[in-house]
Amino acid sequence: MKAIVFDNMLGYAEDRPLPELNKTGEALVRVRMAGICNTDLEIIKGYMGFKGIPGHEFVGTVEKADGQNRSWIGKRVVGEINCVCGECDYCIGGLPRHCPRRTTLGISGRDGAFAEYLLLPARNLHEVPGNVPDEEAVFTEPLAAAFEILEQVTVKPADRIVVLGDGKLGLLCSFVLALTGAEIALAGNHGRKLAIAREAGIAVYPADSLPMGKKYDIVVEATGTPAGLGSSLELVRPRGTIVLKSTVASTREINLNRIVIDEITLLGSRCGPFEPALRALSERTVNVKPLISGIFPAEKALEAFRAAGQKGSLKVLIDFR
Ligand SMILES: [Zn+2]
Ligand SMILES: [Zn+2]
Repeated sequence: MKAIVFDNMLGYAEDRPLPELNKTGEALVRVRMAGICNTDLEIIKGYMGFKGIPGHEFVGTVEKADGQNRSWIGKRVVGEINCVCGECDYCIGGLPRHCPRRTTLGISGRDGAFAEYLLLPARNLHEVPGNVPDEEAVFTEPLAAAFEILEQVTVKPADRIVVLGDGKLGLLCSFVLALTGAEIALAGNHGRKLAIAREAGIAVYPADSLPMGKKYDIVVEATGTPAGLGSSLELVRPRGTIVLKSTVASTREINLNRIVIDEITLLGSRCGPFEPALRALSERTVNVKPLISGIFPAEKALEAFRAAGQKGSLKVLIDFR
């Protein structure tokens, strides 16, 4: 099968062996489209020490499954990326996404979605509503990550919220938070990206003209830069909450006194629930289409990665159909 493989270097292969169903409960999915995420761009720089087929944002069709999972065959699906043991204290205690024995699609211990086929446990799959096209369904995973904020923080209608960072995740977070009716602002450095949020009815600011002062109830840090936390601390009100959405591998020193003195809640936030993401796409309460920067055929996957890495680029999709 066609696949994009990372092994110290990114390469494109046409003769990669098809994954085989050998564990019960798994399903073989024929990938239709896959999206390139910032995590993938980090992985090809060596993040996580991953080797194999990267990619974790996809939409596909189930081709093979065993036993009672056969009912999935033929269905168009998206899939949760954390594959868990189902037996440990975290799994049983309602925190399966934190299972210490987990593998993660295209990120850790498991080949991912930049290939014609992938394997995932059938219980990770979600059927895509018929009215959601592939180009939008592929956003389910990152949109779910934005919905995770609402799982973690109670947003009140009178809250003032600022999202820092106008990249893919920052935009998706601002769209999702806008659904709550709270006052949302988005700050970023790219006119074209800010324009997408403005179109969606969100107040936008160039990052350097955001009025400073500790006035925001919630600050969502999605800049992906080490400076983001420092800015967040300048913006959050006493007893407010900072949600950290981007993983920044940095040991930069930061003065944590503000967190104590102003009694700030600092919250890490990662993968989220797929159901509300699929519902938002199906009911069109969130419009992800303007975030698509380009669609490349599988054969031009390396070009797709170059495009995704360019400044100003948003979501680049790879088409395996
Ligand atoms: Zn991702
Ligand atoms: Zn577990």
